[in-house]
Amino acid sequence: MATHSLRVVSDRAAPLLPPLLQIDGVSLEYRTPERIVRATHQVSFDVHAGDRFVLLGPSGCGKSTLLKAVAGFVAPAEGEIRLEGQRVRQPGPDRIVVFQEFDQLPPWKTVVQNVMFPLRQARGLSRAEARERALDSLEKVGLADFADAYPHTLSGGMKQRVAIARALAMRPKVLLMDEPFAALDALTRRRMQEELLALWDDAGFTLLFVTHSIEEALVVGSRILLLSPHPGRVRAELNSHQFGLASQGGTEFQAAAQRIHTMLFGEPAAEAQTPRARSAASR
Ligand code: ADP
Ligand code: MG
Repeated sequence: MATHSLRVVSDRAAPLLPPLLQIDGVSLEYRTPERIVRATHQVSFDVHAGDRFVLLGPSGCGKSTLLKAVAGFVAPAEGEIRLEGQRVRQPGPDRIVVFQEFDQLPPWKTVVQNVMFPLRQARGLSRAEARERALDSLEKVGLADFADAYPHTLSGGMKQRVAIARALAMRPKVLLMDEPFAALDALTRRRMQEELLALWDDAGFTLLFVTHSIEEALVVGSRILLLSPHPGRVRAELNSHQFGLASQGGTEFQAAAQRIHTMLFGEPAAEAQTPRARSAASR
């Protein structure tokens, strides 16, 4: 079809199943005493089962607010969010969030107790069932030997692994991650991206992942939604399943990164600019 090749969106074959998650014309607002801050404006996108769907955009474009809305912590001012066709009205164990901060784990519980807690509370598993599932999940993130350690004895990367193990143990319909690796050093961050992709290969969950890094979006995502700054609106939606950690730095990868940069900021990144603009950009 001639029209199809012109669209930035979707070279995906027509899906047989309806989308797992539908974000339908969603505007999100914060009310402060002085004014109403609009965080996103009429954002729409569909996440299908097994997607690694990335929300990408500059700081302040409403990515975290969108994730909170999907999690059920923030109600849309306009539009609707549906999970398996049912309107999202409140938080639930079918949507678990992993945050950027390393202090997501209550420090008075051991690693395995941290992972067990929501399994007992929200899933109603017995102690034995919860422990078995928690240990299995910790094994998957390579932390079986640290089950009885306390969070403060772990590195930032290990704490994030525990948070991921805790989330995956809940077997959510969608795993929500808000810049989960942004506070890690570059090498640990890369390793965590690698592990996340391996976990996805192994466990096959559906991921909604927020980042402001174009490279991370290309590496982690199978689909990328580009959001314009404040209030966040949809700029474009792209496929990125062809890229992974191995393609980083390659010509195609860099061309895609450049293209996204232009779509987000209306101009190409440093290389394509005048020498004066380039030196300004590198300062
Ligand atoms: P991102 O995650 O993309 O950086 P956020 O979703 O955190 O963006 O924020 C989107 C917009 O909403 C920003 O302009 C931010 O200042 C505003 N905002 C976020 N949280 C609040 C809040 N609690 N009260 C008022 N405004 C907020
Ligand atoms: Mg944020």
